Amino acid sequence: MTAPQTLQSRVRNFGHRRRCGDSLPCLVSNDREPGEVNVSTEPSFRERVQVVCGHCLTPNRVAHLHLGDDPKCGRCGERLLDGELVALDEASFEAFVAKNELPVVVDFWAAWCAPCRMIAPLLEMVAGELQTSVRVAKVDVDAVPALAQRFGVYSIPTLVLFRDGAEVQRIAGAMPAPQLKRWIAGVTRRRR
Ligand SMILES: [Zn+2]
Repeated sequence: MTAPQTLQSRVRNFGHRRRCGDSLPCLVSNDREPGEVNVSTEPSFRERVQVVCGHCLTPNRVAHLHLGDDPKCGRCGERLLDGELVALDEASFEAFVAKNELPVVVDFWAAWCAPCRMIAPLLEMVAGELQTSVRVAKVDVDAVPALAQRFGVYSIPTLVLFRDGAEVQRIAGAMPAPQLKRWIAGVTRRRR
């Protein structure tokens, strides 16, 4: 038989976080101030991450816990994390790269570049495998030369990893799939 629970231990077990003004400790754990986060019932609240839709560029907030549940865009209804490479131009680059809170790998490529064509299907494969932890986009340097210039991309393919819109790391040249996956997984795991 378990020992009878004392009032004090019940209060401790509730994770009581604030004074309710009574002389006795308040037992209502759901009772909270406006704007106060109840950590016991909303454990994922603080772990929401902004994910930009690759179809309509609307930022959506998704709980970390639900990134693997195939979340849909609140505006257009398309899958947010479909593992597809998002083709960017100057305008969509700002919306996609700066507002995604997941790291973004951008592939600078061109249609005439053989190593680019070699790396493209590998990148698609890795983007699909790592779709809940990284977004993958592509910039055609012939169609959007201003972006290549802005980021000093002088050889292709060049992969640049951005976090919160800022470049974190880059790698140039074609590489086999395992190396590509190791690089993306390694740099996206690393915190600032
Ligand atoms: Zn959308």
